[in-house]
Amino acid sequence: MLRVEKVSAHYGHAAALRGVSLSVNTNEVVTVIGSNGSGKTTLLNAISGVLPVSDGAVWLGDIKLTGLPAHMSVRLGLGYVPEGRALFGPMSVLDNLVLGAYSDPHLRGWRSLGDVKWCLRHDSVNRNLEYVFSLFPILKERQRQQANNLSGGEQQMLAIGRALMSSPRVLVLDEPSLGLAPTVVKEMLQLLVKLKGDGLAILLVEQDAMASLRISDRGYVMNRGRITIEGSAKALLCDDRVRQAYLGKAVT
Ligand code: ATP
Repeated sequence: MLRVEKVSAHYGHAAALRGVSLSVNTNEVVTVIGSNGSGKTTLLNAISGVLPVSDGAVWLGDIKLTGLPAHMSVRLGLGYVPEGRALFGPMSVLDNLVLGAYSDPHLRGWRSLGDVKWCLRHDSVNRNLEYVFSLFPILKERQRQQANNLSGGEQQMLAIGRALMSSPRVLVLDEPSLGLAPTVVKEMLQLLVKLKGDGLAILLVEQDAMASLRISDRGYVMNRGRITIEGSAKALLCDDRVRQAYLGKAVT
């Protein structure tokens, strides 16, 4: 579903990605792990079109995303949950969700929902809203509250919910567990397993390598802008190099 082919990207003259290739299939969770500064966020920004690539290509199915602006990638089926969530804090939970739907061309029409007067098709938006509320019942309860007033875990749910409102085929998440309590992290990772069962392809960047590999099908290790190790999640969890560098395990 998502294919990254030999992608390179630069900040000025500094290379941040050097010929990175990876793939994520439908009904699969794939994790990218790596130390701080290895290029994980840069990779997700390059995939989503936030950062232009200097070489290589990103494909969503048979559509080439490279060179398209980020909002087009969303319209074509790439949902992005950025690091730090990027919610509209003073706006309500409902309006944050409705804004997520605005990118989906199938949801456009001439009705409005919530306080946001967008041109959206009420019935289709409601269908996506019901799906998000079924995943996160707490968001339904709090739909009139300001996003700012949610807990960290609820804000992360909202960020994921907003991305789901655009009916993505691929969901890309940058460190969704950041700042969350371990029990909340566990729930959030289990949710990703559920989403994969619902037909999504999921690409996850995580600091908590152990927790994320445990729920993943495959994984990639990044170092200094390159993929240095790849394999099944099970193989990576047993790999001495991965265990020593990223899982905090001494090799015996
Ligand atoms: P972390 O786990 O700390 O979030 P990361 O693996 O996501 O790190 P990136 O944030 O992608 O790594 O950074 C990769 C490299 O690019 C680092 O050397 C970083 O300093 C550099 N970098 C990131 N953003 C910029 C920027 N806006 N301008 C210049 N250099 C940048």
